[in-house]
Amino acid sequence: MSGVSARLDGRGIVHEAGLRVDGGEFAALVGPNGCGKSTLMRTIYRALRPSAGLVTVDGDDVHRLPWRESARRTAVVAQETPAELDFTVGEVVLMGRTPYRRVPAADEERCARALDRVGLSGARERVYATLSGGEKQRALVARALVQETRLLLLDEPTSHLDVRHQLEILHLVRELGAELGMATLAVLHDLNQAAAFCDRLYVMSAGRIVAGGPPDRVLTPELISRVYGVRAVHRTQLVFERLGGGP
Ligand code: ADP
Ligand code: MG
Repeated sequence: MSGVSARLDGRGIVHEAGLRVDGGEFAALVGPNGCGKSTLMRTIYRALRPSAGLVTVDGDDVHRLPWRESARRTAVVAQETPAELDFTVGEVVLMGRTPYRRVPAADEERCARALDRVGLSGARERVYATLSGGEKQRALVARALVQETRLLLLDEPTSHLDVRHQLEILHLVRELGAELGMATLAVLHDLNQAAAFCDRLYVMSAGRIVAGGPPDRVLTPELISRVYGVRAVHRTQLVFERLGGGP
């Protein structure tokens, strides 16, 4: 995307934002609460039309594509999981096939493969609302997988999870993206985690992208203090790593 601005209720929220994510790459978007990250994401998944600028996926302006075509290019795992509806996990996953002509047998197969891939193969008939937070997020990743898109967007996919489940989701998404050559852009809260997982990091502040690049170059103490108003100090710290096993 380049030069993207967005307004809500007549107020400018995003100002001339530009970023790119290549296939197979995991990019993170970070920034203080209320700086405009979700609004920016919404212009990419077409929940909001930018007031200026261009959002392209695979070379085409997403806001000019037929709806069905843009849904074949971009999948979203949003912050708020869709209401506690009475759908089964399998039904939620199959919603990812909405932009395609349904082919029941093949779609069942896709659903089974995706559930297997996220470690939920036993949960197909369970009611989605009864899943744990981590399982819900994995089911939504499975739904995104059957959508077979070039771009996967995640808006704070780990915000309700404990640290082990946070790492699990991030590992899963990064592996899938690399394996499928899918571009992934995730809004993340934890700067250390973002730095550990992403290939490219974008920092947003007051509606603008103020830095972008490899995380070790972007996350300088100066930038952190300017954007977050805190002092960043390197100390000996606990580093959490996922133990073997699990998906
Ligand atoms: P972030 O995701 O970085 O926390 P958001 O994009 O959600 O930030 O919000 C950016 C700004 O836009 C905030 O000031 C917020 O209050 C405002 N905002 C968000 N949604 C709406 C809306 N539907 N109508 C008006 N203002 C909104
Ligand atoms: Mg947000």
